[in-house]
Amino acid sequence: MKGMMMHQPLLVSEILEFGAGAYPRAEIVSVRTEGDIHRETFVQMRERSIQLAHALRGLGVEMGDRVATLAWNGYRHMELYYAISGIGAICHTINPRLSAEQLIYIVNHAEDKVLFLDTTFVPLIAAVKDHLPKDMTFVVMSDKDKMPDAPFEVLCYEDILEGQPTEIEWPVFDEDTACGLCYTSGTTGNPKGALYSHRSTVLHAMMISVMQSTTFKEGASVLPVVPLFHVNAWGLPYSSLLSGLNMVMPGPAMDGPSLFKLMDEEKVYSAWGVPTIWQGLLAEIKAQGRKPEGFEDVVVGGSAAPRSMIEAFENMGVGVGHAWGMTEMSPVGTHGIMPKWMEDEPFETRIDYKSLQGRRCFGVELKIVDEDGNKLPHDGKAVGELFVRGNTVVAGYFKNEEASAKALDKDGWFGTGDVASIDPDGFLSIQDRAKDLIKSGGEWISSIDLENLAMAHPAVAQAAAIGVKHPRWDERPILVAVAAEGAEKPTLEEMRDHLSSEFAKWQLPDDIVWVDAIPLTATGKFSKLNLRKELADYQHP
Ligand code: ADP
Repeated sequence: MKGMMMHQPLLVSEILEFGAGAYPRAEIVSVRTEGDIHRETFVQMRERSIQLAHALRGLGVEMGDRVATLAWNGYRHMELYYAISGIGAICHTINPRLSAEQLIYIVNHAEDKVLFLDTTFVPLIAAVKDHLPKDMTFVVMSDKDKMPDAPFEVLCYEDILEGQPTEIEWPVFDEDTACGLCYTSGTTGNPKGALYSHRSTVLHAMMISVMQSTTFKEGASVLPVVPLFHVNAWGLPYSSLLSGLNMVMPGPAMDGPSLFKLMDEEKVYSAWGVPTIWQGLLAEIKAQGRKPEGFEDVVVGGSAAPRSMIEAFENMGVGVGHAWGMTEMSPVGTHGIMPKWMEDEPFETRIDYKSLQGRRCFGVELKIVDEDGNKLPHDGKAVGELFVRGNTVVAGYFKNEEASAKALDKDGWFGTGDVASIDPDGFLSIQDRAKDLIKSGGEWISSIDLENLAMAHPAVAQAAAIGVKHPRWDERPILVAVAAEGAEKPTLEEMRDHLSSEFAKWQLPDDIVWVDAIPLTATGKFSKLNLRKELADYQHP
């Protein structure tokens, strides 16, 4: 027997209507490429999103069309999220740090009809324009009097909004309709498109709000340093409207001093981003001898948060939430909000648990399996490949039958490519990406554990551990490291001594290669792929 309840499709337009109705005074505060700070309330954002929706229709955008964005975090990007999805089109966020080749590939693969770009990216598009679809429309996200000279035909964002109605009857359609498209950074082969639906997006936004219920206080200011072009800034553009949070958007300025200043001025309560971003902020906090005013919470994800970073934040009274996820998971899978019983535990124990990747979000099932696909126990000891299942996980890839066929196991679980254990309290511990594990003499060494302990050495600013070919042991670990400013580099023996507190002798690195910078991926993680390429001819000392 069916329940006798109404069935309203879960649509992104309802998030906008809810946010503007329930929290009309909440604000989006943006550092603009024009150089100033811009403020608009949720009510103003709703009106401008509606004007944009009318303008998009005027440009010929219909249900199912892909509309691309190449933009920093800012209010116009938020308006695009809601306007595009609201009329049933698909918001395709492009990562500007992709190579020209990948950018050309994904725009053509997605068959984008319109591309909205920040002024910063005009030269980038000018360089590849001849390889993009011929009939694309380009709209520059700028004030009229600040429009750059573009060497190709462009429209102005503010021009297309002008005079458009500020009311709309949002179309109602099936909640399984696609609303967003985000390509993985394609570390192996071409990037693959995760095609989110309205249903998955609304459920994910609700999931984030539940997961952050202890920290998402109405009226608090949240800073997504994680870009809107990277998996929907971990869901914040949606969950902020569900929870009534002010969004503080950093624009292109994501260095430590700029972030500190913005956070201080706007009294940012919670800031979200990948570990490499926080290194810059922590350096600025050290230089200033204080944290930004009002800063109490940080969410770190995208790659493992080093223990030393977690300690640094916690010691200054900033609670760390260590989250794990993937583009294919919308992206959040687990979160690091601590259980109540943890409050009475000693500091060290709390840091131990915060170094893990947290517990699963509602709606995301986790399983670890052995090489034959058999489920392994959640005893904190068994290590296996991590699979996930849930309403916010991809079931395949956009226009890619080959990758889609390989995405799920026979029971419909998605293979993450991560290797992990899960303890009886539900805490996930990511050991490594399967392809980054270092195999020495038939035994595995976690590159994440090794580099995180190396980064706890005071003379080391950044470190990545990779395996290099070895005639006898198959692979041996080495560290590629950046020295902390002004510090004397430790010798290999000193580093091995430091690491031997947690690692067996055979797991210690054979060498340290000192570099000025570690190459980063388009999403700000250490690019082990590039490091392995650069060190392909590495000779053991
Ligand atoms: P891309 O590399 O394209 O940015 P994703 O952002 O989807 O792709 O990356 C997902 C992967 O990032 C995960 O499979 C995992 O290996 C890694 N990852 C994400 N968060 C964490 C974390 N907290 N700890 C360790 N690894 C993480």
